[in-house]
Amino acid sequence: MKIAKDTVVTVNYKLSDAQNNLIEEGSQPMVYLHGGYENTLPKIEEELDGKEAGYSSTIQVEPEDAFGDYDPALVKVEERNRLPEPIEVGMQFEGMAEGADEEPTIFTVTEIAEDKVVLDGNHPLAGMALRFELSVVDVRAATAEEVQHGHVHGPHGHHHGHEEMEDSEEGDHFRSQPLQ
Ligand SMILES: [Zn+2]
Repeated sequence: MKIAKDTVVTVNYKLSDAQNNLIEEGSQPMVYLHGGYENTLPKIEEELDGKEAGYSSTIQVEPEDAFGDYDPALVKVEERNRLPEPIEVGMQFEGMAEGADEEPTIFTVTEIAEDKVVLDGNHPLAGMALRFELSVVDVRAATAEEVQHGHVHGPHGHHHGHEEMEDSEEGDHFRSQPLQ
């Protein structure tokens, strides 16, 4: 089966920077709904469109087509007592960036002082050119429900569990969110 709109694609991937330093060896394949649902980078969809299981390729994606340029305005300092304890550098929280109306931003703790915490809302890969080694493992037709929801269901797909967390009362709370 060829990869086309409304197919579910299982792809093994290895992510490196432009100097070929390994960033992430996908320990589990990525499984996504193909066809512009923003479940993966558009450049990856473009590369895989029309291909079949067994296809392998390496692509390089510039920051503007990946996670954007680094934005210093997304770095903020919070009172430590507004964040859960214990807190450590590298932890990530979901919160609302100022001025953002709907999309929650993931903030990474980059520094901790006695009573303040520095949170960086840039994607950890912002500002980087990325190299993806892709290898298509499986292609199947999406179910009607997956198409309606705009994401994959099933073992490696979307879990509906987090949805209740999106109800934020005041819009500026940070919640602990397992990301990996
Ligand atoms: Zn769903």
